[in-house]
Amino acid sequence: APTIGVLALQGDVREHARSLASAGAKPVTVRRPAELEAVDALVIPGGESTTMGKLAEAFELLEPLRMRVKSGMPAYGSCAGMIMLADRIEGGIEGQQTLGGIDMVVRRNAFGRQVDSFEASMDFAGRGPLRAVFIRAPWVESVGTGVEVLGRAEPGDRIVAVRQGPLLATSFHPELTGDTRVHSYFVEMVREL
Ligand code: GLN
Repeated sequence: APTIGVLALQGDVREHARSLASAGAKPVTVRRPAELEAVDALVIPGGESTTMGKLAEAFELLEPLRMRVKSGMPAYGSCAGMIMLADRIEGGIEGQQTLGGIDMVVRRNAFGRQVDSFEASMDFAGRGPLRAVFIRAPWVESVGTGVEVLGRAEPGDRIVAVRQGPLLATSFHPELTGDTRVHSYFVEMVREL
């Protein structure tokens, strides 16, 4: 089974680890550079992206994370994790630290202007309807040609799931529903890459 890290600076670390285990991976928590080196792939949970950037810097993980993403490590970012993987952010703060990697513009707190949190039923990667939980979630404003759109959601038919090569991102929190299809999709990606 692939060893998949969960970045454990903040967010639903335990829930992601449980979903990864159900999807057939071996989950481990990542808080230090040496732990990052030991994983085949990484999940970046939700939380608050500006805080996560600061914590990554404080834990001396920012550069190691950027280097591993740049060198092709598969990564899956949920919500704040999606923001971390975006090449460009709308509504970010001055000096906000991210990793980048996916050629897209992500708007922070986009749905939050209308509804702080909500659930929607959506099709994820053609794998049937999925109940998605959004919490002060971003949406994807636009994507480059190399980015595959894996899901859209109401309100607004917004892009909420994307993939570019080894990088996967969703605006929503699949770790909260007990539905492991998104994690299974990621584990399959890791096995294929
Ligand atoms: N609003 C948060 C941010 O901008 C993301 C919310 C979440 O991860 N649930 O980072």
